[in-house]
Amino acid sequence: MENTIHTRPIFNSSPIQQVDWAGKSYWIKRDDLLHPLLNGNKARKLFYYLQHEFPNKTTFVSCGGNQSNAMLALAALAQLKNWQFHYYIKPLPNFLYQQPSGNFQQALALGMHYTEITDFSAIKLTATDLWIPQGGASPEATDGLKQLATELTTFIHTENKQDVGIFVPSGTGATAFYLQQHMNYPVFTTACIGTSDYLHHCFQQLSCTTTKHYPIILEQSEKYPFGKPHPTLLNTWQTICTATQIEFDLLYDPLGWLALQQHADNLPNTIIYIHCGGISGNNTMLARYKRQKLC
Ligand SMILES: *Cc1c(COP(=O)(O)O)cnc(C)c1O
Repeated sequence: MENTIHTRPIFNSSPIQQVDWAGKSYWIKRDDLLHPLLNGNKARKLFYYLQHEFPNKTTFVSCGGNQSNAMLALAALAQLKNWQFHYYIKPLPNFLYQQPSGNFQQALALGMHYTEITDFSAIKLTATDLWIPQGGASPEATDGLKQLATELTTFIHTENKQDVGIFVPSGTGATAFYLQQHMNYPVFTTACIGTSDYLHHCFQQLSCTTTKHYPIILEQSEKYPFGKPHPTLLNTWQTICTATQIEFDLLYDPLGWLALQQHADNLPNTIIYIHCGGISGNNTMLARYKRQKLC
């Protein structure tokens, strides 16, 4: 069974910073600054695995995209714990195989082993493997998001803020969902992968008998296929990065800020935006924009 390691946590509370964007003031929770490699919401979701020991396990096993932020976070986690990390991916595109780049390259440098597989359901585990679901979307994510909720609540009380909402863009929805379970303030989100209905369905999957309430999903006026370069997303990204002097992620954050802008008039006065990290993937994403002559 698991024992808790009573050592100093590697994370201190992340800073909160005020910025102005599109005529409104926002607070940014800088989870991108938690740790050089293990940061953002992936660090929060994986916090549980840092805090606990698993005596008979030696290897994290997971699956997902070949440039995913979760992959890099797991590679960093494995290194911090002195474990192995085995990652399953769909067959690699030739250019990436020939010349690893971005998160993939960084994860390999941290010691990740990978296997190409067409069907993730065919993955087999051994007794020493510890399985982490794709994107870290599992109840274990609760510990780290509870801590994030505590940090936010402390800030809100210390600053004596009224009419507060939290915002975080969603992929699997796990971050928004578990955060909301531990917050007495509304958590707003928007679906970056799939539709709002799909995201709602993801919340239902994560629910249990103690589920209090779901995050509020902000609809987007336009739908963008996830991960596909689009001039509006690039332009939004450039605008927020310039206005705030903070580098945001190019996959989720442009969609997050677009949703906030569209709904600005109907949201609480004070919005705290969770910076989920992910900027280590920006270079490979910008390279895709360049290949498609979009920048
Ligand atoms: C993974 C990720 C998200 C989405 O988190 P979920 O918990 O899957 O909803 C948002 N932003 C960034 C930068 C991420 O890496």
